[in-house]
Amino acid sequence: MASAIEILEKNGLRKTNVRLEVLDLFLKSETALAHQQLEHALADVDRITLYRTLKTYEQKGIIHRALDGTQTSKFALCESGCPEHEHHHSHAHFHCEACGKTTCIEEVDAPKVGLPDGYKISGIHLVIQGECADCCQ
Ligand SMILES: [Zn+2]
Ligand SMILES: [Zn+2]
Ligand SMILES: [Zn+2]
Repeated sequence: MASAIEILEKNGLRKTNVRLEVLDLFLKSETALAHQQLEHALADVDRITLYRTLKTYEQKGIIHRALDGTQTSKFALCESGCPEHEHHHSHAHFHCEACGKTTCIEEVDAPKVGLPDGYKISGIHLVIQGECADCCQ
């Protein structure tokens, strides 16, 4: 896994402290991070800057939205390094009902679906709910 600095350089982004701090949190976290969690961890960063940083990362293919069926938007690192403006993964997201954590399940892909004529797919999200490995112990 590349370091925060390497990821910013590869994507042609300026290395600001906020960008490095945000990216570090994602690199260290094994689960998807909610906006609120990031705000909490980066108390000295204002909300707008954080919001913009996440948006830039999402556009650059560094992080993606981990939809988990809850109202909270969460983000997770793109393991494979997605191209700009195009997230090509369709892996499942596991939402633990016990601890509330959401994890990317790279091993499981959303199924390919056939739709009636006239429909166009922009994304398929597979959400799995249950208890994570930590909570099952
Ligand atoms: Zn992606
Ligand atoms: Zn859990
Ligand atoms: Zn994911």
